[in-house]
Amino acid sequence: MKISTYRRTTQLLFILLIIIAPFLDILRIDSDTRSLIVFGKEWSIGLEEGFYLNQSFENASHVAWRFFLKAVLPWITVLSIFPILGALTGRFFCGWFCPEGTLFELFDFLTMKIFGRRSLFTKKPNDPGAPAEKRLPYIILALFCMITIPLLMGVVLTGYFVNPRTVWSQVLNWEFTFGVKAGIIGVSIYIFISAMIVRHTLCKYVCGAGLMQMLFGWASPVSIRIKTDPVKLAACTDCKSCEKVCFMNVKPRLFRKDINCVNCGECITACNKELGKDRGIFSFAQSRSCALPVKEAVKKQDDTVVNIKRDECYEKTCR
Ligand code: SF4
Ligand code: SF4
Repeated sequence: MKISTYRRTTQLLFILLIIIAPFLDILRIDSDTRSLIVFGKEWSIGLEEGFYLNQSFENASHVAWRFFLKAVLPWITVLSIFPILGALTGRFFCGWFCPEGTLFELFDFLTMKIFGRRSLFTKKPNDPGAPAEKRLPYIILALFCMITIPLLMGVVLTGYFVNPRTVWSQVLNWEFTFGVKAGIIGVSIYIFISAMIVRHTLCKYVCGAGLMQMLFGWASPVSIRIKTDPVKLAACTDCKSCEKVCFMNVKPRLFRKDINCVNCGECITACNKELGKDRGIFSFAQSRSCALPVKEAVKKQDDTVVNIKRDECYEKTCR
C-alpha cells in the first residue's frame, strides 16, 4: 500500500475521533454543571468537598496533593505531549493526523484542479502544473466543501463546550440559543478563513503544537526525518516531482534539514514513482543527520566514485 493511502486513513480516523469524542463523553466541557468530562467521568479537583467542608491542616495537605494529581500533573502531561512527539517523530503528527492540515490539503487539491496552483492568490515555483481539463465538477465540489465543512466543524467543535446532543437538536430544529449560535458562527468563520486564505502558513508560523514539534524535532538526535541518500541522488532525473508534491514548500533534495517538513512521505512516493520502486533517494530515518556520512556518500555501491560536488552538497548537510 502507498504511503499516501496510510496517511489518508490516519487523517480520516483522527477526524472521526474529533467528531465522536464529545458524543461519547471522551472529552468535553459540560456547560450545565461547568465541569470537565473525561472518559465519561466528571473531572473534579474536589476542592469544595475536601477543603471548604473540613479546614483542618491534615485535610489541607490532602487537598494540596489532590490538586497536584488532578490539576497540575494532567496539565503538565497535556503540555508535554507535543514536545515529546516532536522529539521522537518530528512533525509527524502534522502530516499524518492534524485535522486542520488535512483540511488544508483538501483545499490545496481543489485549488490545484481549478486554477493549476495551490494558493488562491499566488503561483509558486513548485506548483504542480495545469488545472484539470474538466473543471466544473471540481468547482461544484469546492463550493460544497467551502460551505459545509466550516459549518460542520462549527457544530462539532461547539459540542466540546455545550452538550453535543443539545447542539445537534438545536441545529435540527433550527432554533438556537445565543451561545450555540455564537460558537457555530465563530468556529465556522475561523475554519473558512484558515482553509481559504491562510492554509499551511498557519502550520509554519502560527500553530503552537506545530511550533513545539518543530523545535523539539529539530533539536532531538532521534526524531524521524526525511533522509536523502547522496549515492542514489546520482540517478536523479531532476523531474522535480519531489518538490511539486510538497505542500510545505520544502526542497527535500537539499541535505540540510528543513524544519517545516511534516514527514508526510509524499516526496518518497513521488521519487519512487520516477526512479522505480525502492530506487528513490528519500526514506524515513530516525537520526540527527539528514544525509549519509560523507565517506559513504562519495562511494557508490559498486565502489565507483559518485560525481557529487562536495562543496555544493555537503556544506548544506545538517550534521
Ligand atoms: S519534504 Fe517530503 S516529507 Fe517533508 S513535507 Fe515535503 S513532501 Fe512531505
Ligand atoms: S523526485 Fe527523485 S528524481 Fe525527481 S527530482 Fe526529486 S529526487 Fe530527483
